[in-house]
Amino acid sequence: MRCRLVAGNWKMHGSLAANQALLAALKARLRQVEGVSYAVCVPFPYLNQVSAALTGTPVAWGAQTLSEHDAGAYTGEVSGAMLREFGCRYVIVGHSERRSLFGETDQQVAAKFMAAQRCGLVPILCVGETLEQRERGDTQEVVGRQFETVLNAAGIAGFVSAALAYEPVWAIGTGKTATPAQVQEVHAFLRALAAKRDQGIAQELSVLYGGSVKPGNAKELFAMADVDGGLIGGASLVADDFVAICEAASR
Ligand code: PEP
Repeated sequence: MRCRLVAGNWKMHGSLAANQALLAALKARLRQVEGVSYAVCVPFPYLNQVSAALTGTPVAWGAQTLSEHDAGAYTGEVSGAMLREFGCRYVIVGHSERRSLFGETDQQVAAKFMAAQRCGLVPILCVGETLEQRERGDTQEVVGRQFETVLNAAGIAGFVSAALAYEPVWAIGTGKTATPAQVQEVHAFLRALAAKRDQGIAQELSVLYGGSVKPGNAKELFAMADVDGGLIGGASLVADDFVAICEAASR
């Protein structure tokens, strides 16, 4: 059975005081459940705080991006090896905000995916279409191109230890959630693309949904056959909501 993962994306939110309260609540309330993993992906400066708070709990942690380079004169960048030193297990790559606001290209996303794996991090690769692209009927072409660029660079073997997240851009932070049927259709398409290269790896690949997941819609989204958990933005900052979403992932 595929592993489920619920990962919070704090984006550029938090403070030492607010994080302390949120992390204490997660530590007190989240229990290990067979086949389900939890994580929070936090801003770089908080990795030390998060590692101190979550070591020994069922909640892993990670970052929201990394450099495609291993080391060097790249002012302001953070390498995968540095993230590993702070105990990160996961790193998000190719989030739509990185693509649209910081100009990350498909090729750069693929390079980041491989940089993460060189350091033993588990990349969570995000793909997703804009509203305009969906309305033009281009959803499969867009997410297919984003996924295949990484498949071509890393090979299907790169997805033995990685997760894929379908995040329609129009559903991120907007309160508009894709319907379970829309989500299932894209997830099945992505899994089929992976299956063309390796049926076994495709069947084991965790495909997460992200885009305005809330306690009220998590259960029905996670019930879809090809949905293996979620990437959670806004709701991951509210302890009650994140705990409820994590609980909705248990079978
Ligand atoms: C995200 O940032 O990855 C995300 C899914 O955000 P939200 O849950 O707030 O839509």
